[in-house]
Amino acid sequence: MPDMPGMHELRQTLARLDGKGYKAYKDLQGAYEFDIGTLFIDHVQGDPFAAPSRIRLRVPQHVANLPEPLFNTATRRVALQDFLARWVDRAIRDTVQGRRGMGKSGLVAIDAGGQEVLQRTAVVVTPRWVEARLHVGLPASGRTILGRQAEAILCGELPRLVERGLRWHNLPQEEGEQFVACVENQEFMRAQLEKRGLVAFIANGSLLPRESGASTRPLPREQAVPFQSPESLRVTLAVANPVPGHTEPYTAISGMGIPRGVTLMVGGGYHGKSTLLQALEHSVYPHIPGDGREYVITTRSAVKIRAEDGRRVEQVNISPFISNLPYGRSTTAFSTDDASGSTSQAASIVEALEVGAKVLLLDEDTSATNFMVRDARMQALVQKAHEPITPFLDRVRELYETLGVSTILVMGGSGDYFDVADTVIMMRDYLPYDVTTEARRIAQSYPTRRSAERTIPLESVTRRTPLPESFDPSRGRREVKIDARALDLVLFGNDPIDLRGVEQIVDLSQTRAIGYAIHLATEKFMDGRATLNEVVDMVEQFFDRHGLDELDPFHRKEHHPGNFARPRRHEIAAAINRLRTVQMRQRYE
Ligand code: ADP
Ligand code: MG
Repeated sequence: MPDMPGMHELRQTLARLDGKGYKAYKDLQGAYEFDIGTLFIDHVQGDPFAAPSRIRLRVPQHVANLPEPLFNTATRRVALQDFLARWVDRAIRDTVQGRRGMGKSGLVAIDAGGQEVLQRTAVVVTPRWVEARLHVGLPASGRTILGRQAEAILCGELPRLVERGLRWHNLPQEEGEQFVACVENQEFMRAQLEKRGLVAFIANGSLLPRESGASTRPLPREQAVPFQSPESLRVTLAVANPVPGHTEPYTAISGMGIPRGVTLMVGGGYHGKSTLLQALEHSVYPHIPGDGREYVITTRSAVKIRAEDGRRVEQVNISPFISNLPYGRSTTAFSTDDASGSTSQAASIVEALEVGAKVLLLDEDTSATNFMVRDARMQALVQKAHEPITPFLDRVRELYETLGVSTILVMGGSGDYFDVADTVIMMRDYLPYDVTTEARRIAQSYPTRRSAERTIPLESVTRRTPLPESFDPSRGRREVKIDARALDLVLFGNDPIDLRGVEQIVDLSQTRAIGYAIHLATEKFMDGRATLNEVVDMVEQFFDRHGLDELDPFHRKEHHPGNFARPRRHEIAAAINRLRTVQMRQRYE
């Protein structure tokens, strides 16, 4: 591009704009060449308090010099991009002054990740260039452009940022290599789970507890009991890259393997059961080195199930768990705007199976008691004919034997599950013990005398077709208005989607992507025939092929989508299922 303006022209424009009304900033839109790269001003905010302007910094690889082996596979590229976003973020804190006027004036930000490593749009690495996508508050005093301040940011701070955050010779190279190697190891280990007959793995030495209920950072090492596998469940997984060790690097990692089937986690209150389960929930994603869970590996399609009373349910066949409702109400196509604890949990299981969950994760702390158990005495008092619920206890084996779906269940409160468990792990003082044999013996010497309550066999799940006309992303005069208000709240048009019961979303940018993915799916893939499972399949294929940029309907015209992180199919489906306006039609094969 021979006639691309440079920093000189940008300075001239800013000198001209100085003192003018804020709207005049729009003149900046365009691309500018600077000594080591290109600055793209894609979208200029309307006023100093509006969402900040979107700016990209692109550097050719002959300047950035990122080593090809760090991005020549999909996993490595995701890891390197994630690593660079973190370093640009750090460089922002070191080189950017910050506030330079009113509102968001002077703000410079990049959407870097938290404890998990996710595919995200903040940094893009290609064989030809690397690009960082920033949010920048163009400075103003009142509504008057501060041209000098803008010049300091655009012509001073941003080029310095590129120098610090995107050029390999200025980056901590060993840390970068280890970051990519660590993420690759985690995916390499995940790929071994299936043929080893496992659904999860927790490396010895892992640190599972978090700093606090409000933080995802690790509890300081000196306060945490490191994980140690019982001998009987110990397995060793190969790694793709040597792991830095005390004396010499490890080439394989040992830890506790959780086998397929029904696994029960028991133990006294406060002994670390839920902490272990939560680590498994979030280890469907890779973790950053130093997180403590970086070698905790869960099958990608493991889904946390919890009770969620008040949620909406649309046309779900919950009859395997709940039937014979009072007054003959059908449960083969059950809908409600206000589910109970047990019906919500039943619906969430059936919905998870519908889109391919292979492992269910349940915690007694967040389950409905009447959904989980019904003991002999209660069976004697309330006959089955008057109890709609078939407890999970009576389905959990069938789930595995008929549908191949494993369960990991935290249950300190009922020994009835001993009869149906393949593996029983006891947590004591934050350490796991294999108590399977003992639990079997106890199950034999203390029979529960309860009778199994299956009325109908568990069949493969019903498929549902979402009806595209039941989705409306518009709000006011905007045709598409979708906001991630919090990790667990999307505003889709005028409809809030409550995701508090969807516990495996780990990043606000995933939540945002979920909101836009629903819109993308209605526009491109829902035709009144495709099932929900087919729709999320197509969304995933679309992400694989085109990345996440296309999620933003305006990105070509107006701005770069620098703040998406990739969600799983399970969370996209979960959000659709919770949309209060959604309509589905059941389809029988
Ligand atoms: P349970 O579910 O068995 O009642 P939790 O998992 O909720 O127990 O753990 C209770 C407390 O112990 C939590 O505050 C948690 O952070 C802490 N904790 C869990 N595991 C460990 C560990 N390995 N080391 C230190 N503290 C831990
Ligand atoms: Mg608990």
